[in-house]
Amino acid sequence: MELLMDETSFPNFPELFDLFDREKNLLIYTKSCDVEILRKRQNILFFELIKFQKREQGEKIPSRMCIVCKKVKPFAQFAIRTRQSHVDTCKHCYYLKLVATENNVYQSILRCIQRDERKRKCATSFAFVIQQDDVRHIIDKIWHGHSALSKSENLNELRLPRWNKSDDWSPWNCVCLTERETRDHYKIEQMDKVYDPKFILHVGNCHMLSRNLFHTLAAVATEFQETGQWWKVGMNKQRSSDLNAI
Ligand SMILES: [Zn+2]
Repeated sequence: MELLMDETSFPNFPELFDLFDREKNLLIYTKSCDVEILRKRQNILFFELIKFQKREQGEKIPSRMCIVCKKVKPFAQFAIRTRQSHVDTCKHCYYLKLVATENNVYQSILRCIQRDERKRKCATSFAFVIQQDDVRHIIDKIWHGHSALSKSENLNELRLPRWNKSDDWSPWNCVCLTERETRDHYKIEQMDKVYDPKFILHVGNCHMLSRNLFHTLAAVATEFQETGQWWKVGMNKQRSSDLNAI
């Protein structure tokens, strides 16, 4: 039997870890969760892992070239997606690409928040402290990946505008809406006249969850926000140079 010392030697590791991650998130952040399907797939991959052996070189197995990394790999190492008729990207490249695309989306949502805060002359807003990974956190974990109003899941359209437009942006003063809903939201003068009390309560709950998730940030805020200097405290270089770049 061969020990798998190197994670990259088993081509299904990224998918397996991705499934573990999804199950973990479901169990932590949702009340009613059905993880059976995830576990079925995990079991299949786990059995494959147990049976897995590195192929002897020179052995003839059906293979093809990945159009991204240009490496020739066996068919089993290619990502099969439902809406694609031919298989062309290996699993390794497929997961790398998936992560990169998502990061871009969260980065652009963050830029929208920052642009809006700058327009409102709020240089001390949390918008300039959080990073794209925090935005991913807020969208996925707090708002479950969809608009609070229309439930639209199109990441490219989602925004995180202020909830109370007269207060600075923070993870606990924002709401997940589409771009169009954001425009309408900002036109509202009295929210309780437009939004359903249930909806307002739901948003309030999300804000509480957000305060918990970002409790360190919340503690920093209480202490330093009044001075307007708090973002300089304990910030790493990357973040302060980010601030200059925007
Ligand atoms: Zn590849």
